[in-house]
Amino acid sequence: MTPRSNIHTHSTYADGRDMPEDMLQAALRLGFHTLGFSEHGHADYDDCSMPTEVEPVYRAEILRLRDKYAGQIDVLLGYEHDWLSPYPTDRYDFVIESVHYVRAGDALVCVDESRPILENAAERHFDGDFYALCKAYFRTVAESCASPAQVLGHMDLVMKFNEARDLFDDADPRYLRCALEAADAAADSGKLVEINTGAIARGYRTQPYPGPAILRRLAERSARIILSSDCHDSRYLDCGFSDAAALARACGFKTAWAYRGATLEEYPL
Ligand SMILES: [Zn+2]
Ligand SMILES: [Zn+2]
Repeated sequence: MTPRSNIHTHSTYADGRDMPEDMLQAALRLGFHTLGFSEHGHADYDDCSMPTEVEPVYRAEILRLRDKYAGQIDVLLGYEHDWLSPYPTDRYDFVIESVHYVRAGDALVCVDESRPILENAAERHFDGDFYALCKAYFRTVAESCASPAQVLGHMDLVMKFNEARDLFDDADPRYLRCALEAADAAADSGKLVEINTGAIARGYRTQPYPGPAILRRLAERSARIILSSDCHDSRYLDCGFSDAAALARACGFKTAWAYRGATLEEYPL
């Protein structure tokens, strides 16, 4: 089964293509019962995040849509928090905790902006050693599991530009050791761990995050998963959901979780 909902949704309030109401219309066309918005909360090092003064405007618009569409679809007000930025003090229905940046000395390295930026960061800050960069990345993901957020976002985002494995090998023990430590921390945290298809819709990858080795470990550790499309374009709101569900089954999951309104439900995959 695939979910008739999505809680990882971006809009023109940050780096999405469409207005929130366009996203809602797309969700209605797909027969969704729930749509959660999760705009990038403000991070002063990230130009794609919402400026501080926009956050109340975003909140007001999502709450307006919640009222306008009551009875047709449940609308959730959420927030995607970057781990290195201040945690939101406003109330949200859910928060997605994501690591997009790692610290390297005094610098912050963005892992998902572009391949040249990732390559340059490995060269400048990790002596060209991608495994050292991955170790820093997954250590940060493991730390981020201490967040009060309900959901852990795209936990191997460092693979975004490396599906061909030509930057580093995700089967190498140097990668796997730290990736699986992060998976253990994610499972221990009790958070919903995302299977995220966003990079498929955007043409960066053919497979969701996280990869099979991490998913198998999460299944062994009885972690709870949630499918999301990390949607930035209303045409792709359920992109890759059936493939993601098949991958989850192949990696040992029998069920996944989804929001129905503000309530979490477990369903068979
Ligand atoms: Zn993200
Ligand atoms: Zn996102």
